[in-house]
Amino acid sequence: MVIKQLRASGGVWLSVGKTNLYIDPGPGALVRCLNSKPRLEPSTLDGILLSHKHLDHSGDVNVMIEAMTDGGFKKRGVLFAPNDALEEDPVVLKYVKGYVEKVEVLRENSEYRIGEIHFSTAKRHHHRVETYGLNFKISPRTISFITDTKFFPELPNLYCGEVLVIHVVRLKPIGDEPIDHLSVEDVKTIVKKTKPKLTILTHFGMTMIRAKPWVVADELEKELGLKVLAASDGLKLDLKEVG
Ligand SMILES: [Zn+2]
Repeated sequence: MVIKQLRASGGVWLSVGKTNLYIDPGPGALVRCLNSKPRLEPSTLDGILLSHKHLDHSGDVNVMIEAMTDGGFKKRGVLFAPNDALEEDPVVLKYVKGYVEKVEVLRENSEYRIGEIHFSTAKRHHHRVETYGLNFKISPRTISFITDTKFFPELPNLYCGEVLVIHVVRLKPIGDEPIDHLSVEDVKTIVKKTKPKLTILTHFGMTMIRAKPWVVADELEKELGLKVLAASDGLKLDLKEVG
């Protein structure tokens, strides 16, 4: 998806009160922000977060930090990232890292705050590089992001947000696949357990795109009796309207 840009890979802009946090600035993040209507102004960001260092989640991290800090002239903002995104074979360039006011290393089962946004990590995901999912408390809503991972038995219990954003790459599971990602079967297992008010599927691989994500979402919604939406490029969600 990323290489062919069949789907946008720019990540998520989260806005709560006056606080703006950018999650996983993949390739195209900056251009998507500037071209969105209304335009999302990177210089108003308070922080940038990487769930993990893979390029489809971090490709634009350096340029987004530059944009947040006015090309490095205004030292500001917080960068949240796992240690291995910063230390060994880092995806954030050293000189760019110096532009942010603060670097907060993401670790297992830890709580973080940036302005009006509170969030926590859970257990480290089963993925090739250090990866965390996120639980946000955004009064009056909770929202969970299950980022890249292979399924593991505790997974559903870790993400109980009323809104669940889940990275579902595969239509069907592959036994011993080398790339650790979730399939639609895993989504069913998770949603049956946690019963979110709204589930948003995103981060599709080719098998999902061929199956038409909105068709998959419709079928899941009927089967599970809970609202399921397939993310589309530029999707905007008002958390207050999730009922
Ligand atoms: Zn990944």
